[in-house]
Amino acid sequence: MTATQPRLRLATVWLAGCSGCHMSLLDLDDWLFELARFADVVYSPIASDCKTFPDNVDVVLVEGAVAGADHRALALRLRCCSRMVVALGDCAVTGNVSALRNLCPELLERVLPLHAVIPVDLYVPGCPPSADRIRAVLEPLLHGRLP
Ligand code: SF4
Repeated sequence: MTATQPRLRLATVWLAGCSGCHMSLLDLDDWLFELARFADVVYSPIASDCKTFPDNVDVVLVEGAVAGADHRALALRLRCCSRMVVALGDCAVTGNVSALRNLCPELLERVLPLHAVIPVDLYVPGCPPSADRIRAVLEPLLHGRLP
């Protein structure tokens, strides 16, 4: 990182998923220290107490499908507030096993993959995606490049 390069504002979001994609992110092990050199985690179920999705996020990794009104509201909010949205894992990319859920009144009529609700910039398929695959996306983004 150069002296003029701002730190990446990174967020992670957990919608209708099993947390496996976040566990895969934690499998990055030592590379998480490298990530911390260049990025601030500003919103995440595993690294932040922030309750409201913040403004001016550079990259957000989204685990899980959109299964309810609260998920849809959060998806719309994060799209407005983020420069790059990454659909992380098969549930976000296709709906996957989250689409098998039972009906209940507060759920949407159909479980939707993320791109059916908001534009997505990058896709990281896998159930979960491997730590190496997540790193292959995050590493260039940390340095201002597209993967
Ligand atoms: Fe879990 Fe797989 Fe869905 Fe990730 S893609 S949230 S690991 S079921």
